[in-house]
Amino acid sequence: MTVLRTMAACVMALGVGAAALAQDEPFGVYVADFKDRAEAKGYDRALLDDTLSFAQPASSIIELDRNQSEFVKAIWDYLDSAVSESRIENGALELAEHAEIFAALEERFGVERSYLAAIWALESAYGAVIGDTDVPLALATLAWEGRRRAFFEKELYAVLDILGDGEADRGDLIGGWAGAMGQTQFMPTTYRAYAVDFDGDGRKDVWADTGDALASAARYLSDMGWRSGEPWGVEVTLRDGFDYAMADGREKAVGGWAVKGVVRADREPWSADEQFRQAALLLPAGANGPAFLVFKNFYVFKRYNAATSYALAAGLLGDTLAGKPGLIADWPRAERPLSRNQAKALQRALTDLGYSTGGVDGLIGRNSRAALRAWQTDRGLPADAFATTGVLEALEAELAAR
Ligand code: CA
Repeated sequence: MTVLRTMAACVMALGVGAAALAQDEPFGVYVADFKDRAEAKGYDRALLDDTLSFAQPASSIIELDRNQSEFVKAIWDYLDSAVSESRIENGALELAEHAEIFAALEERFGVERSYLAAIWALESAYGAVIGDTDVPLALATLAWEGRRRAFFEKELYAVLDILGDGEADRGDLIGGWAGAMGQTQFMPTTYRAYAVDFDGDGRKDVWADTGDALASAARYLSDMGWRSGEPWGVEVTLRDGFDYAMADGREKAVGGWAVKGVVRADREPWSADEQFRQAALLLPAGANGPAFLVFKNFYVFKRYNAATSYALAAGLLGDTLAGKPGLIADWPRAERPLSRNQAKALQRALTDLGYSTGGVDGLIGRNSRAALRAWQTDRGLPADAFATTGVLEALEAELAAR
């Protein structure tokens, strides 16, 4: 969860490519050194030997870590699969089957069942897909690879703590290739901090026990600030001539947005409570796609996974499972998102035109969006900061004409 995702759709991307990696030392030497350092910190030698008994790294994991996809899925393509018909049908079945657990968790953590189920779906397809990688081996391999050694060693220590405290057994520790475990896809440090023994059997079994897994995810959402009874977001439409540059993450009270020309897409009035609620305007597919006012709970989803596409999927799937109507506006499916190389070209073009993107890394983040927004504003275009191949073509044409 959180930090590492395999899905290219979740533009999280691990950042750099296979940059200089410190694999000068053999894997076995690295593991022996880690064990010595852990023992010096007070970890039991027998626990270390039992936990980290492998002789070879998992080469497939290194391949996966290095081959972050060049191609980025359009958000509508990601949502089509994340909020598919079968996922909605399965969600209804799971909600019915585990109704007592969901009711108890709503009571205890205040997280509405449909949104908890949506997170469960996105993380592990309702527990059906939890990975089959030995997590200590995955973490040791990634730590040895060296690009983010401190991060993965911290996770390795958490694994030792889990086993040392008897929270789980060595054989339980399977997960995704980057170390996310169980139905909740918790990294070991997250497991240590948030996993819950819901059925009181002495184990925090996020792998095989649905109650433990759902309680752990509910606790995480609750601790990240989930607000019971509040929406994650509301689809809106924007008055003609609306200044799209305001969709830059700034927050305003809903009433303030209404003054600027933001109305609910369903044309319902805002309630008195909602008028004063802080919200940001989100245009996930630019001026020609659906628009949303997003609230605190949207950012709670992002604490599970920082990708906007993920948080939207959680919200939209949760809405559907709660019986709410779907989106009113259509996605601009004719538009094409940029590949990583095209994103770099866009960043170079903006920079060359005097709109600094703060570097050229192929990831369209805050600085790149601000630069694009400024260019669009100066050219009298809708300043939605939505980077498409059409925008790239316009930038390159302008550069060529200079
Ligand atoms: Ca348990």
